[in-house]
Amino acid sequence: MSSFIIILMAVAVMVAAALIWKNREEFSEQDLEEPPEDIRVSPLLRGINFLLSDKPDRALQEMVQVAKIRSESVEVYMALGEMFRAQGEYGRAVRIHQNILARPDVSSDLHFQAYVALGRDFQAGGLLDRALKHYAKALAMQTDHLPSLYACLRIREQSHEWDEAEWLVSRLEQVENASYHEHRAYLKAEMANNAWEQGDVALAESLTIEALKLSPSCTHGHLLRLRQLLKAGEADAVVAQSEQFLEQVKVDHHNLLPEVLLSDEQFYKVKGEAFLWQTWQQRHDLEVGVRWIENVSKLHGQDAARSLRDKLELSDLSLRHELRLSALNEADNNLIQQAKYWRLSMKLYACKHCGVQVHQMRWHCPKCNKWGTMEPLQGSHVFGEEQHAA
Ligand SMILES: [Zn+2]
Repeated sequence: MSSFIIILMAVAVMVAAALIWKNREEFSEQDLEEPPEDIRVSPLLRGINFLLSDKPDRALQEMVQVAKIRSESVEVYMALGEMFRAQGEYGRAVRIHQNILARPDVSSDLHFQAYVALGRDFQAGGLLDRALKHYAKALAMQTDHLPSLYACLRIREQSHEWDEAEWLVSRLEQVENASYHEHRAYLKAEMANNAWEQGDVALAESLTIEALKLSPSCTHGHLLRLRQLLKAGEADAVVAQSEQFLEQVKVDHHNLLPEVLLSDEQFYKVKGEAFLWQTWQQRHDLEVGVRWIENVSKLHGQDAARSLRDKLELSDLSLRHELRLSALNEADNNLIQQAKYWRLSMKLYACKHCGVQVHQMRWHCPKCNKWGTMEPLQGSHVFGEEQHAA
């Protein structure tokens, strides 16, 4: 018998116990208007029988009868729905929670719980629009219900609906009386990025400036601003913005600077290379050095990368850094092929909040939903250790 059936049996026994207890009380009160005991219990026994014969759908039908007869069993019935969801049986969880809503005699509190439960069922089953609809019904009854607000925020962020996400973050700020400035800055940066990709330069610039005003340490905002200034050909402003970047964003994000400064060949030749060299001399940040060489190799070829590596005189490299640099080599020997393979499968960033590891830099953690928490993986281990994300 599967563990799922055992759990269902446990719930059935709880319902039976609740009914027998209730019947005992009512017998003592001599309440003659109650239906006879066999009518109440028999659907339950039939339900257990169907569970034993591994027919959960028929069992569910019988359980619905039990819940219709006894309003006291509704809460046990809710628990059954939670269990179906936990087992990945979203369709059955939805049916249970919809049945509760269809009953005329349930309290408004149970109505509210059923809406939240349906939101969770649909969210877990990937029907996000329907999930949002049910969370909205729950929020109409209880406007400050934090789990529903968080769930809606998660769905909006997953769907890249940044305006709606920002509205929810403002609502959370009010309800929790807490600051979400950092979070809002990243949402503004995502909006700016969308505007930039759609060619709306003015909107992209104003949203980026808003993001940096909300949080001067928002790395995504800084990098967008740098791209905008590069595109406008404002070389001095790019240098000034790069200086601010190094001062304001966390050190673990400094390695993202070389790529953006190299993206404009003219700027890199005139000012970018000198700026990165000066930064290298001041800070000797190995992660920045290795990223710089990787980007030079990608854009200007292996010879340029080798001469930059000589100039930086890299020492004390970790195995991780050694492999990344070996993978840039164009020679065709077995070791280098292995290094290239490692480089492709290597996770470069990890979330400092939940530890999930990813290949590419992301602003939004796919696991814990925090913003700006990805940092380069340090140390000598080459592959991810335990947690992975696509
Ligand atoms: Zn995380």
